[in-house]
Amino acid sequence: MKKWLFTILFTAIAALLVGMVGGFFATNEASTNDTSKNSNGSVITIFNEGGTAGGHTPRGFSGMGSGLFAGDNLNPNFPEGDGVQTFITFDVSQITDSEKASAVLRANDIKINGTPFEDLGNLVVDAVSYDVFSRDLWDSSIVGSVCTLATKRTDAYECDVSSFIQQILADGEQKVQFRIRFESAGDSDGEQDMVFFYMRDSNSNEVGVFELEITTKIEKEKTVAIIESEELHIVVNVYVVKDSGEISTRRDVEEVRQLLVRSQEIWNAAGIVLDISIEEIELTPDVALAVAFGNFRELYSTFSTDNTAFNIFYVKGLLGPNGIALPPRLALVADITSVDDFRATAHEIGHLLGLVHTLESRSRLMFGGANGRDLSNEEINSTRAWASALQ
Ligand SMILES: [Zn+2]
Repeated sequence: MKKWLFTILFTAIAALLVGMVGGFFATNEASTNDTSKNSNGSVITIFNEGGTAGGHTPRGFSGMGSGLFAGDNLNPNFPEGDGVQTFITFDVSQITDSEKASAVLRANDIKINGTPFEDLGNLVVDAVSYDVFSRDLWDSSIVGSVCTLATKRTDAYECDVSSFIQQILADGEQKVQFRIRFESAGDSDGEQDMVFFYMRDSNSNEVGVFELEITTKIEKEKTVAIIESEELHIVVNVYVVKDSGEISTRRDVEEVRQLLVRSQEIWNAAGIVLDISIEEIELTPDVALAVAFGNFRELYSTFSTDNTAFNIFYVKGLLGPNGIALPPRLALVADITSVDDFRATAHEIGHLLGLVHTLESRSRLMFGGANGRDLSNEEINSTRAWASALQ
């Protein structure tokens, strides 16, 4: 028996990612987040929160200072006044597609005093967690991935924080917080070596001097199930009614054969093969008259019911309908159909395979009076079970 393979494709669409991070520095134009989409996915830019959600702390100092900068620190008023780290916070609650999100942290506005990279090493990023600033933040432990924002003055000041963001989202966290520092706290050379992150005011925690650029990918067609199954064969005897008075079809055998070929294409989706035989048939006057008056069941007298074959009759008209199924074995299709005639044929076969109408979508084969050709997974399973029972 030939193996037959079908795949179920579905479209996994990344969640629509819209909305703004609100509630902070609404008057700053930089607080407007940017969401763009293209066929490959979405890019969301989230800006650092300002106000008390950011700041700097000098080593040993018990609180926070306003302003985002890092380096050594020459202010003698601070205990152990030789280093400053900066802290920033992002609200990531709008990102919903955690698995496929990649993230870049970027500093947009850099000013440099002295020679921090030469004297203090790389500018590195730790992921940390805090509710309030305290002296402990200077040495707080890392809770996520670390990256290097820059190794020299002319670098781009950006680094990949994807794995940390994915972890945060998987944990259901709403906020991410980073500590930005030089590898060495200070060099005690009497010169200020610092990097400042600000646009207009170095002493404020400005929104938008840092950004998180989140990219979510949309996988267009993802194969989620591959089912390998046997083809299931159904015997279908097709009768082209001729020389039977008013009900004689104008179709010929070849035209009907083409209808069945195209019906087969629809049933391929279920792995059901129609074993077709086609013949012209002349009905007796009694049966022809009964059919002309809508007593279609009289056709059961014209074929053997000792087997499980389906019997489909092509006639001129059915007093309205495109097709009629009279289970378990009989169906009829009219010459003039309001939908594609091969689709009407496939639809009636669906009824003989136990399907009822659906109202879910006009794209479905079992939506009455439309041109839909799709079978749901449920319909595939049930018709395959039905067809198996006929074997
Ligand atoms: Zn129907």
